[in-house]
Amino acid sequence: MQKNTHDKAMLAEAGVPAGGDGDAEHWRDRDLAVLWHPCTQMREHPGTLPLLPIARGEGAWLVGRDGRRYLDAISSWWTNLFGHAEPRIAAAIAQQAMTLEHVILAGCSHAPAVELAERLLAIAPRETGREPLSKVFYADNGSAGVEVALKMAFHWFRNRGIEGRTKFIALDNGYHGETLGALAVGDIPLYRRVYAPLLAEALFAPSPDAYLCEAGETPEERARHAADGLRELLERHGNEVCALILEPRVQCAGGMRMHDPVYLKLARELCDAHGVFLICDEIAVGFGRTGTLFASEQSGVQPDLLCLSKGLTGGALPLAAVLATQTIYDGFLDDSREKAFLHSHSYTGNPLACAAALASLDIFASDDILNRNRATAARMATLAAPLAEHRHVADVRQAGMIVAFELTPGGDRRASFDPALRVGLRAYRAALERGVLLRPLGDVLYWIPPYCVDEAALQLLADTTRAAIDEATACA
Ligand SMILES: *Cc1c(COP(=O)(O)O)cnc(C)c1O
Repeated sequence: MQKNTHDKAMLAEAGVPAGGDGDAEHWRDRDLAVLWHPCTQMREHPGTLPLLPIARGEGAWLVGRDGRRYLDAISSWWTNLFGHAEPRIAAAIAQQAMTLEHVILAGCSHAPAVELAERLLAIAPRETGREPLSKVFYADNGSAGVEVALKMAFHWFRNRGIEGRTKFIALDNGYHGETLGALAVGDIPLYRRVYAPLLAEALFAPSPDAYLCEAGETPEERARHAADGLRELLERHGNEVCALILEPRVQCAGGMRMHDPVYLKLARELCDAHGVFLICDEIAVGFGRTGTLFASEQSGVQPDLLCLSKGLTGGALPLAAVLATQTIYDGFLDDSREKAFLHSHSYTGNPLACAAALASLDIFASDDILNRNRATAARMATLAAPLAEHRHVADVRQAGMIVAFELTPGGDRRASFDPALRVGLRAYRAALERGVLLRPLGDVLYWIPPYCVDEAALQLLADTTRAAIDEATACA
């Protein structure tokens, strides 16, 4: 077969069956001729890192162009909620596409944007005695949503004539996206270090990460100590800070590191005491991933700004929403346009994406998703538990529909594998060979399956994870 051809007739002549190995090979070649992939050292394709041409998705499964099926154990970067090509979401998008595909949202309005805002505000975390989140600003991806929240917090103080509050506090090991503003409040060295000279200065508070517990320390104690660190930072810098941004309950990109819900409660109190806004980034943990609809609920906390994306559309289309309090909104009302929040993206509030999000919210109700997930999460816990005994597993942790396995040499919590061993990459390849798409974060393997994952798929996932860990650590 001639490479770099995309002539179907030629392929047929060469005897390449549709959906066969040759077909996958063909698409791999065409892809690598023109595409630059996200979060990838392109030199590793395809020799070190296989590239998987995917033909279609079905429920929790991806079907490759080679005809092989792969369990999407990571919900395609934590976006997918109810399975791929969900018919009700697909139908909602199709219907909306025939009616109004897009319209400028400055000066115009449309029903999907209004209805979605109403419904998001109705289900948003609420704290008695605190003014509710009452306005929605749309953006078109998570990072853009984070930029919106950061700019709003900063600009609100400016509008009030308070000039000194120019800094943000973020948490060690946190992640908020890849655009420059979002990177500035992120603390994953691999993504951040190169761009450091371009980034606005942020202050970092200790992470409440329970994996970092000292011997004998409970996760709650760890969270309280971390909050003490935040208190000190605020006592020193409080009047220079406009907002604290954090990921409630799970620092996802930071290795699915989990913390006790008491941390968010303490952080909320500290923000109140210092007149600092609290931004909860629930882009990854929102929409049921940690067991509750929003992770903040587990702390009984309501933020001043809430960032949502990823699962917002059920994983079908890019969309972000930033929910704000009336106080923040009112701070921008003025005769001057400069005091307005002039931030805009061309596709703000895209009707197709809003229609997908509305269909996704309908599924939460009609399929009783949160209750069903409780049973699935319990099953995940049972299947994951035996892996804690594995020699090279230092920690197995879970928050609702997220399970993570920390791999270290000999299971030592203070050690980590030599990066040159590429343990995570080995595990990734071993899992793929067994028909499971696991994409480790460093040496952390994790399960974030679509909610429709069934017993057989969970069994496969557990068996494959064990095999992948065995194979990946055989070199150690
Ligand atoms: C993924 C993620 C983002 C960025 O969202 P993108 O849509 O990838 O830009 C921000 N914050 C958190 C917590 C995330 O997990």
